Amino acid sequence: MPVRRVAIIGAGMGGLAAGVYGQLGGLETTVFEMHDKPGGLCTAWTRQGYTFDGCIHHLAGCREGTPTYRMWEELGAMPRDLLFPPELTQAETPDGKVLTVHADLDRLEAHLLDLAPEDRRLIRRYIRALRAFTGFDLFDVMTGSWREWARLLRQAPTAIRWGRLTMRTFAARFRDPFLRQAMATIQYDWTDTPVVLHLNILAGSVVRRYGFPAGGSLRFAQSIADRYLALGGEIHYRARVEAILVENGRATGVRLADGTEHGADAVISNATPHATLHRLLGGKYLDDRLRASFARPQDEVVMGVHVSFGLARDLSREPHALVLGLPTPVELADRVRDRLDLELFGFDPSLAPPGKGVLKVLLDTTWSYWSELGRDRARYRAEKERLAEAVLRLLEPRFPGIAGQVEVWDVATPLTTERYTGVGPGFAAKPRWGAMLGARPMAVPGVKGLQVVGQSAGGAGIPGCAAMGRNAVRAVG
Ligand SMILES: Cc1cc2nc3c(=O)[nH]c(=O)nc-3n(C[C@H](O)[C@H](O)[C@H](O)COP(=O)(O)OP(=O)(O)OC[C@H]3O[C@@H](n4cnc5c(N)ncnc54)[C@H](O)[C@@H]3O)c2cc1C
Repeated sequence: MPVRRVAIIGAGMGGLAAGVYGQLGGLETTVFEMHDKPGGLCTAWTRQGYTFDGCIHHLAGCREGTPTYRMWEELGAMPRDLLFPPELTQAETPDGKVLTVHADLDRLEAHLLDLAPEDRRLIRRYIRALRAFTGFDLFDVMTGSWREWARLLRQAPTAIRWGRLTMRTFAARFRDPFLRQAMATIQYDWTDTPVVLHLNILAGSVVRRYGFPAGGSLRFAQSIADRYLALGGEIHYRARVEAILVENGRATGVRLADGTEHGADAVISNATPHATLHRLLGGKYLDDRLRASFARPQDEVVMGVHVSFGLARDLSREPHALVLGLPTPVELADRVRDRLDLELFGFDPSLAPPGKGVLKVLLDTTWSYWSELGRDRARYRAEKERLAEAVLRLLEPRFPGIAGQVEVWDVATPLTTERYTGVGPGFAAKPRWGAMLGARPMAVPGVKGLQVVGQSAGGAGIPGCAAMGRNAVRAVG
């Protein structure tokens, strides 16, 4: 059956990209978004003249001519002003030791050798691996063509050599006690992440394939929504889809929470696979494999709490990310912590009034902790306030006077994310690694003309989800 009209559930990266590529392919597409703005997780919010960014640390595809950049061009997100902070991050101890992860490999090598001459051999191997990764990007495999797979194969020996190491096991190889601790934390403080991901991102930052879009995540998402509208697409905001309509084993449209039905020849869902299968399809198409893949809900939420401050303080000379060791472990929210993971947005003056800055602390957490608190709104609010005050006290030695400089603060928790994006507890299906590299959308057994796209369906970050949206249009077309 020829597909002409496509209903898209959600204006996240996957949904917006599906919309743009659908319009470019001559389809009539309509996006139904429950929030009042586009972007989903790729978002930001403003408070009293400050923009608190909820997403991008590193955006892949900032270098002209790469496959990911070309995808952004098609999506209307490039060209744009891009910012390239001179370091990946900085790690500091309370007794004044500092590791700056320069996005300049000569500088980084000299700095590491200075800190730990006894680790000379390991440092040189690490820098050699970074240089090898400068010619290649994992995200280009997701967004590009078979040529990128060929490049991936050429990179295979280095990737395999480093593939078995996590940041923690890599760091454990250093003899110097400071680097043994600090090196584990330099990729978003994700100590269990594969070193290969770190090599990819740091090498990408060195050659400016990775950067930050000036104005932040929401402005980036908005530019794709604008392109979609310019191509004749339609977005309905505050339009929560309640059900996917299915007739004779084929998706035939959507029903909104207000009861209206919108017919279509195919549906692309940017809601999570869990929500799509359980809620929007009423659990009717769950086979044993799918049931098993949802059997173990994930409680851990990486970077689940954002404690943001708008400060009457110039942060333009600070590193753009900082892992700050604490003198003694402290209980914050659901666990004891010995360091804080900070983002400092002084590198983008558009995010704060002149001479002022935004500082954010990210905390890993669990859904269960916040959903339990959320049952009692007063306790939930009090915990957010207590958390912001405790974090400020911990920041004081590094940023003297900070408590008096706070003009506005905000604490976003996993409940905030769930409210605005529908990404909630236990919603992750089992990882689909093959789907991730190929940015392959997820089909639903028993329903033709339906594809699920997005991070929980295996999309890797912003480019991976966008590429999945593009591929979903081909799959339903
Ligand atoms: C803290 C943080 C930092 C990150 N940093 C980076 C980074 O530096 N680089 C990077 O590449 N990626 C980063 N990511 C990941 C990136 O944000 C996500 O991979 C990507 O934005 C997810 O897109 P998605 O397609 O899954 O859609 P989502 O963001 O999940 O959006 C889905 C949309 O669908 C809507 N929706 C859901 N259900 C319904 C319904 N029933 N009816 C109508 N609408 C509905 C939601 O409101 C939402 O707008 C980060 C994520 C987080 C949380």
